[in-house]
Parts: sequence; structure tokens; C-alpha cells
Amino acid sequence: MDYKTHRIGGICTGIITVTTFAVSADPSEKIVFSAALILGSYIGSLIPDLDHPKSLIGRKFKVLSKGINKTFGHRGITHTPLFLIIYSILIMRLPNIFQGYVKTIVQYFSFGTIIGYISHLILDFITVGGIPLLYPISKRHFRIARFRSSSHKNIITGLCIVIALIIIATNK
Ligand SMILES: [Zn+2]
Repeated sequence: MDYKTHRIGGICTGIITVTTFAVSADPSEKIVFSAALILGSYIGSLIPDLDHPKSLIGRKFKVLSKGINKTFGHRGITHTPLFLIIYSILIMRLPNIFQGYVKTIVQYFSFGTIIGYISHLILDFITVGGIPLLYPISKRHFRIARFRSSSHKNIITGLCIVIALIIIATNK
């Protein structure tokens, strides 16, 4: 799946999260925290493809990306629930180096990256390539649908947007 589809998926997931859960009662805080979460979700949606040196994020961290790709391959370790858990534990420690208001913003941002990460795995989970769901017990790739990243990306992008709009519209 290309990064444009994942990016839309990440942003939509972020928007759904901030509309579904009360972020803050204070209007100005609500905007800042929501923006931090959505930005996080956008960035998080790109992280799993760090294992692909030609991906948007892979090109930014070439050495790391090539290393992961050589060791685990594309849709390898970074596309597993296990790695998501490890990543979540680590990233939720990040806010601890900040204090006060900034700490809260970083908390929303960090949480956002986890949500974006999940959106990426779900989107890859519905494509033919699937993801190694049970890694390291099994390297087999599992999928729940057979969308093709290349030919169905417009359908998937559209679905993400429609689902987000429905949730926003029905959330009062
Ligand atoms: Zn991927």
C-alpha cells in the first residue's frame, strides 16, 4: 500500500479518535491537543514502512531503513502486532522528558502515533500481501480481505474518508 493511502488512513483515524473521545473541555486546549494527536496519527501511519528503503519515511532514515529491510524484509517485523506493542511502550515514555503543558501535548502526539501505526497495520491487513500477524511464532502473512494496493487504493482511500465523515456526522 502506498504512503498516500496510509497517510489518509492515519489522518482519518486521528480525526475519528478526537471526535469520538472528549479531548479537553477547554476550546483552545481541545484544538492544540487534537492537532497533536492528528499529527501523531499521520506520522504513525508512515512508521511501519520504515522497513522499505524507498518509502517516504525509509528515504528519510536510509541507513536504518536499509538495515531493517535487509534483516527482516518489507512487511516484516515493523508490520507485526508484537513490534507495535514494543513501539507503544517506548513511545509512551517520550512525554516523560517534558513537563506541564508540553508534556500533555507530547502525550497526545505519542498516543496519536500509536493509533496511526494501528491504522497502517489494519490497511495492510486487508490487502493481498497481508501482515505477519503471529510473528515470531509464524512468519506467515495473514489477511482479512484481498484488496490490491495498486488498483484499489482509490476505493480504500474513499472508504477511509466516508467512514470518518459518518463518524463525525453521527457523533454529537
Ligand atoms: Zn506497510
